[in-house]
Amino acid sequence: MPLLCWAPGERPAVRHWCTTTPVVAAQAEIAHALIGLLAGSSGVEPAPCTAPGCVFFFDRGRSRRQWCSTGCGNRARAARHYARHHPAELHPADRHAE
Ligand SMILES: [Zn+2]
Repeated sequence: MPLLCWAPGERPAVRHWCTTTPVVAAQAEIAHALIGLLAGSSGVEPAPCTAPGCVFFFDRGRSRRQWCSTGCGNRARAARHYARHHPAELHPADRHAE
């Protein structure tokens, strides 16, 4: 936790003060880094993977990537191929929702 220290006759300074347990402090540090990542202040451009069933994000950067890995790209292409050749059937990943 940042703390402003301004003693008489001295310049104001920021000191970091930990008022909680180390685990909670680590969680707060991770949350702070995640906020910076999602808000765009880290220089990373996070994007969700568009492969069926994948929950990962990846750094899109300047590329035109749509998937977090080549495995997800292969699964997405296979699903697209399957849907094109079996238009009346549900996608295998959607069958468990019935
Ligand atoms: Zn993925």
